[in-house]
Amino acid sequence: MAIFTHPEFDGHELVAFHRDVRSGLSAIIAVHNSNLGKALGGCRMWPYASEAEAITDVLRLSRGMTYKAALANLPQGGGKSVIIGDPRRDKTPQMMRAMGQFVESLAGRYSIAEDSGTSVADIHEMAAVTRYVGGLADARAQAEGRTGDPSPATAYGVFVGLKAAVRHRLGRDDLADLHVAIQGVGNVGYRLARHLHEAGARLTVTDIHAPHVQRCVDEFGAVSVGMDEIYAVDAEVFAPCALGAILNDTTIPQLRPRIVAGAANNQLARPAHDAELKARGVLYAPDYVINAGGIIDIYYEGEAYRWDTVRQHLDRIGDTLRTIFERAELESGATGAIADLLAEERFKRV
Ligand code: NAD
Repeated sequence: MAIFTHPEFDGHELVAFHRDVRSGLSAIIAVHNSNLGKALGGCRMWPYASEAEAITDVLRLSRGMTYKAALANLPQGGGKSVIIGDPRRDKTPQMMRAMGQFVESLAGRYSIAEDSGTSVADIHEMAAVTRYVGGLADARAQAEGRTGDPSPATAYGVFVGLKAAVRHRLGRDDLADLHVAIQGVGNVGYRLARHLHEAGARLTVTDIHAPHVQRCVDEFGAVSVGMDEIYAVDAEVFAPCALGAILNDTTIPQLRPRIVAGAANNQLARPAHDAELKARGVLYAPDYVINAGGIIDIYYEGEAYRWDTVRQHLDRIGDTLRTIFERAELESGATGAIADLLAEERFKRV
């Protein structure tokens, strides 16, 4: 199988494969670019149908982390890892330790954190054999009641980014009576709803899980709609906080709000949907810029963690989005493409 000529290779610095027969671990670590610093990225465990699928995923994800870290103003490079297997069936503590040893063998070129299919508990298991872990609450953090869950930081970052988008598109700083439609009110979406409610916004929400909807109705006076109805809500802002690929050929024509600002990863089904949103007059806050609160939080995790410092850094998500929105207008570009350009200017210049 071709690696250097793989369509997603994009000049990766390192792609390492490891099999540990005793624990059954089959894993790949990819480091895309470390010009801005050592690579950090999550570890995804997934029952990939083929090795080719796992390689494509790890390459695409690790490249994405380079762009995300660059626009999050972090002195950090992009990397990611995947474990081939079903997390519910195949995962064992031995396998997590073997993964930790694999990370350790790279001597710090890559630090690992949780992602889908892995948990903070798994990263703790890995931490028994490697120092190169991110997103772990240390003893002091636990004493302060912090768990290492990045969702509060992500939600605050999305709130900051949403305000920047509203200011740019609607020319207003005040969110009183602004109508926001939120898709998915789980860890991030619920906290975003609270920030918006406290700022005076009106909320319409949907979720596949009824109790999640109900707590927003009870606590924030949100209106609930069916899952397919959320795109056509007559709101100023659509905040996708559930799934990827929700900006697609079916949903974009239904979209009433003129601003998209939410936490979900990989919101565009295809890169061309970036231009499609622009053509329809929708201001899109690029997902990896607005949802960078999680990696910013992980960066500060450890002895020196101070929420004030983290919050100041999260506030800069608004500045970055402003730069992207203004430049997109000046250069008549779509915001996603402009974000990529800005990231490349930062990490390629070094
Ligand atoms: P979560 O699982 O806690 O919440 C997702 C919510 O979406 C759940 O309440 C779920 O029931 C709901 N949902 C699932 N399918 C749905 C559908 N078809 N329609 C409506 N609702 C649906 O996840 P989260 O941690 O809140 O993350 C939300 C999104 O933000 C994900 O795309 C995630 O990748 C992204 N993200 C999260 C973080 C973080 O710090 N947690 C950081 C960056 C990006």
